Amino acid sequence: MMLHVENLQKTFDGFAAVSDAQLEVEKGEVVAVIGPNGAGKTTLFNLITGQLKADGGSIIFKDENLACMTPYEICRRGISRSFQIVNIFSRLTVFENVRVAVMSYNKRTFNLFSRAKDIDVSETGDILKSVGLFEKAGRISGSLSHGDQKVLEMAVALGNRPEFLILDEPTAGMSPEETRNALELMKLLSRDRGITILFCEHDMELVFSVANRIMVMQHGRTIIQGEPEVVRKDRQVQEAYLGGPDELF
Ligand code: ADP
Ligand code: MG
Repeated sequence: MMLHVENLQKTFDGFAAVSDAQLEVEKGEVVAVIGPNGAGKTTLFNLITGQLKADGGSIIFKDENLACMTPYEICRRGISRSFQIVNIFSRLTVFENVRVAVMSYNKRTFNLFSRAKDIDVSETGDILKSVGLFEKAGRISGSLSHGDQKVLEMAVALGNRPEFLILDEPTAGMSPEETRNALELMKLLSRDRGITILFCEHDMELVFSVANRIMVMQHGRTIIQGEPEVVRKDRQVQEAYLGGPDELF
């Protein structure tokens, strides 16, 4: 098991945003977290990446408990993320945004004196090619379409060479075409780069076409985690999340 979250809890001023989250992710899987707005998905991701500290429970990643680590320490263990709200340097170019991430990874990984700056540049180019933004490398990031900005955020996350990528609503606000591209990109990262992906998403078509397994949250709790077909047929899921049988699937 690569990631094992057990009985995770987070309370804000007495309100339990996450009260009992359970999650298992195996290496190489693409796992979706679904659930209505306010279910606690973003809070769960913030707990895993250390932006928030848990009040209880455990987050075991490759045999270490992340619950007591800083975001920096967690990032160094190979976990990167994108945010629900686009989080890039909008006045830097596309190239510069990714290069900052690549440089910071390389700086801490390799001896400063033994490496050439060319490495950063060629790696940045490779990442931009793999996400389809190479032609827009010189553009000011803030001038990109919303969809391209979301993809750029993924590219920045890749600069850290993550083993484990967390995407919070990667296709929110995207056009149907941008959504299809983002879906292809997720498949490519999983298949070609072997990156394990955890994401949350409202677009059920996307969820069911890319996820190996799905975890369903409601009111801060995990109600089920299983293979897509099992989740699709689950009565509790249909009633609780989908507002009755046949509502959404
Ligand atoms: P989701 O991502 O599933 O929509 P969130 O994790 O963002 O849900 O939020 C879960 C619940 O916790 C919501 O009711 C939200 O209002 C509340 N919440 C999230 N962050 C905070 C915070 N920093 N302070 C107070 N309440 C919060
Ligand atoms: Mg959210």
